[in-house]
Amino acid sequence: MKTHTVTVGNLKIGGGHPVSVQTMCNTDTLDIEASVAQCKRVAAAGAQLIRLTTQAPPQVRAFARIKDTLSQQGIHVPLAADVHFSADTAMEVARVADKVRINPGNFSRDPSQATALLGTLIEACNQYHTALRIGVNHGSLPAHILEQYGDTPDGMCRAAMEYLTICRDLRFTNVVVSIKSSNTRVMVQANRLLVERMKEAGMTYPIHLGVTESGSGRQGRLKSAAGIITLLKEGIGDTFRVSLTEPPEQEIHFGKLFLPLLSRQHAVAVAVAAADSAPTVAAKASTPAPTTPGATSAASAATAATPSSITAATSAEATEATPAASVCIDTSATPSSDEEVLWNQLIVSACYEWAPGLLDGTIDWKTLPMPFVEASFATKEELIDFCMDLLQATRCVFTKPEYISCPGCGRTKFDLEETVRAVKEATAHLKGCTIAIMGCIVNGPGEMADAQYGYVGEGNGKITLYKGKTPVMRGIPQEEAVQHLLELIESEQQSPGNGAP
Ligand code: SF4
Repeated sequence: MKTHTVTVGNLKIGGGHPVSVQTMCNTDTLDIEASVAQCKRVAAAGAQLIRLTTQAPPQVRAFARIKDTLSQQGIHVPLAADVHFSADTAMEVARVADKVRINPGNFSRDPSQATALLGTLIEACNQYHTALRIGVNHGSLPAHILEQYGDTPDGMCRAAMEYLTICRDLRFTNVVVSIKSSNTRVMVQANRLLVERMKEAGMTYPIHLGVTESGSGRQGRLKSAAGIITLLKEGIGDTFRVSLTEPPEQEIHFGKLFLPLLSRQHAVAVAVAAADSAPTVAAKASTPAPTTPGATSAASAATAATPSSITAATSAEATEATPAASVCIDTSATPSSDEEVLWNQLIVSACYEWAPGLLDGTIDWKTLPMPFVEASFATKEELIDFCMDLLQATRCVFTKPEYISCPGCGRTKFDLEETVRAVKEATAHLKGCTIAIMGCIVNGPGEMADAQYGYVGEGNGKITLYKGKTPVMRGIPQEEAVQHLLELIESEQQSPGNGAP
């Protein structure tokens, strides 16, 4: 999609400029020393834009000091302020930030005031040469949109278009837009729809891509890569954030692997260069052979791997796989043979080849031979497990628990990464169950999407457990919360009339 250029400090987004990779600090913004140190680490890793939580005036002052400190040390990576629930804070931080992100779902609770408040914010942005991001999230749509259109791709687009229309009417062009969801299919559909709607309206705002609350580890990477790469491959997206419940440096290291794929020519060139190098990571690209009796197919692997409680949530009805050229990643360019790097490269390569067809249903996953990717560093069993994870990330079939966890930010009041690890360990046997682990009670419950169970930080070492959107246990000491979560899920499973989740 052709977009215009937005200027964010020394970064140009859209207008044909290279796609940029960004991240967000998970430090307390008031902890200036820790925030500066983390900004320096992610800048060294290659972050081109860094976002910081900015809740209120004290965080605005801290934001300014972080920016000054970095600048004095010769670090000029643009900084964005992430603002929720406070239009006043957005206006104040617009004086010091390179970019302000607002969420139409909570910028103004009263839609009738949104136009006036956004107008005032735009005045400040104009005055201080600050960019804006209209950042819509699937889990926090404005009430009037939810009532009329539900939490659908259409509703998400309408929420974005309402704010973009105000920007256009005020002739403010320094705006980037994003529409995120933790559901990869919803995220892809919503962004395609947004492109259509913007084209109809003659708008060319650059698009920021991301899959929210995608989690950690391989599952989190696969979800982010599937959604983002599918759209980048179509020419949609000018900047992106891989959102992981891990140190933000990891988001940058992983996100940078997407960039070579943006140029088909480049990808082919690397494939040739890598041809003689070992080990090779490749997503098998030929049209998959029809499954023959006795051969392992994705469907039979899923059946073998899953109890009867697992439902295939696929909408993949088409029967023809899409042939595509092979994309190999030059592993010789990697300084070490670190297995994690190789797996990350396989994720990117496999998503480039397979995610679009799996997400759209133009590839019938049930007919795929298993494994349908190749990598010389992995065993057949490991690759089959990888393929099942890819099928889950693209929402074809669910053979493991599905985890939704936020990346954490300045609002997080507990060790999110460690908690996610503990929850995963305790619930690994709960196949097909969707569990959310969210860092704060302010945004967490809304952003849990369609999770069946939620573990949400209240602050002060206390946790609230949710069943769906309903809080069922409040004020649980953090050290007991994982066990309570497990008991809650298991008691639900054993309740008469309750199938496994
Ligand atoms: S849910 Fe809360 S803690 Fe997690 S990223 Fe969002 S605002 Fe930060």
